[in-house]
Amino acid sequence: MGNYNPEIRELRKILAFNILDTLETAGFEEVANDRKSWGFQTKERVFARNISDDGRVKIKVFTTIVANEVRNSGKDSIRVCATWDPHDGRSRGLVKITRVHRTGDIEKICQRMLERMREVWKRVNATERCSCGTPKFKSKKGNMVCADLCWKRRQREQRQRKTNEYARQGNVGHWAMVEV
Ligand SMILES: [Zn+2]
Repeated sequence: MGNYNPEIRELRKILAFNILDTLETAGFEEVANDRKSWGFQTKERVFARNISDDGRVKIKVFTTIVANEVRNSGKDSIRVCATWDPHDGRSRGLVKITRVHRTGDIEKICQRMLERMREVWKRVNATERCSCGTPKFKSKKGNMVCADLCWKRRQREQRQRKTNEYARQGNVGHWAMVEV
């Protein structure tokens, strides 16, 4: 047993303070919780740090802190993951969530959180990259695909080029011949 007891409010406050302090020292900043904007009820706060030059790869830490204290629940955990931000929509997970249980010593909980953050950092740096330079993520089908879905963009560009070429040759599509 450690010095953290979730039944004691003062300790919940001290743990919350220590978590926030550890995150700040590690260069993490609070960001909007996506889940909230999708209409989920959540008291979770999200902290992130950019780890790529383009600002699209982030380590994220999720933790529930309400009114300066962590929740009184043994089930609560701190979650750490890495994501890639497409700029126009939901970020994609690059390194799966790992959990840090909020049990034991306050100092050790924060140490474990830091260790997980470093682990995720290492794993995201070792992530397979697409030929376009973007990290790959595991798709629903289970294969590794470019987080930027760059092949879809290439397909679109190819179609666009073909259409332009047809138009130049005078072979316009049927839609262009409909009289209005
Ligand atoms: Zn790519």
